[in-house]
Amino acid sequence: MEGAVTAGVALDRFEGGRLAVVVSRLPYKCPAAPYEAAFLAEALLRRRGARDGTTIDIYTPEPYPMPTAGPILGDALTTMLAARGIALHPGRSVERIDSTAGELILTDGEHVGYDLLLGVPPHRAPEVLRSSGLAAENGFLPVDRENMATAAEHVFAVGDATAIPIAGGKFLPKAGLFAEAEADVVAANIAAELTGRSPSARFDGKGACFVELGDGKAAFAAGDFYDAEAPKIRLRRPGRHWHLAKVGFEKYWMSRWP
Ligand SMILES: Cc1cc2nc3c(=O)[nH]c(=O)nc-3n(C[C@H](O)[C@H](O)[C@H](O)COP(=O)(O)OP(=O)(O)OC[C@H]3O[C@@H](n4cnc5c(N)ncnc54)[C@H](O)[C@@H]3O)c2cc1C
Repeated sequence: MEGAVTAGVALDRFEGGRLAVVVSRLPYKCPAAPYEAAFLAEALLRRRGARDGTTIDIYTPEPYPMPTAGPILGDALTTMLAARGIALHPGRSVERIDSTAGELILTDGEHVGYDLLLGVPPHRAPEVLRSSGLAAENGFLPVDRENMATAAEHVFAVGDATAIPIAGGKFLPKAGLFAEAEADVVAANIAAELTGRSPSARFDGKGACFVELGDGKAAFAAGDFYDAEAPKIRLRRPGRHWHLAKVGFEKYWMSRWP
């Protein structure tokens, strides 16, 4: 929250210059988030009249946006970014950031200057997971992808803490929607066991996400991440209705925790 508020203030004060959006490392939470950040920043700066003097560049180690969802969706987002004058630099990793000089130092040695940086920091699993004896090498927990059981009896894991392989050598994205669906499955199965019923709830790998595009519009991607061949994800035509649906979704969630 602190980072988000700081970014909002910095964007409000930004008079123009080089804006860099950086994905530092994989995996990270919410595959759409850095692209949404670029779209939203572009729209905000345009509204404020600061767009003409601004370049927006995205640096990411990914081969294309949201690779888990496949190349068709990636191509569609790449086209939308280009249409908004946002330069995408896929397959480019940042080695370190020199905030004093305002420079990204890429792994291939190139130095890239920036005036404002919106960065996705490196993600790592909490120490409690790393030292649990249940984690894979990267610190996250392998689980049965249908009932979320870990290697230890009666220990389950859901959400971002897990590492769930899917087709194509990829992993299920770290997204709240999955965390919620997985938690529902685990809760139902624990309740079943406690009441002498068969624990038959299964997580099916289906999911969806809104992609905010700025200007009050969003796109919507949905599909089956557990398809045996490759995740089958469809991107719906962007429009105001998807943005309104996201606002409604948020209001629904906030109302659940008054
Ligand atoms: C900018 C952004 C946009 C996103 N947008 C979307 C979206 O549109 N849709 C979507 O589905 N998902 C989205 N996500 C992803 C979503 O927020 C996460 O996938 C989701 O929060 C994962 O839930 P979780 O409970 O597994 O983990 P978390 O929400 O990270 O919760 C884990 C909790 O454990 C706590 N914790 C850590 N270590 C310890 C410890 N040792 N002891 C006690 N507590 C500990 C942490 O403080 C944290 O509160 C977004 C994420 C970001 C960053």
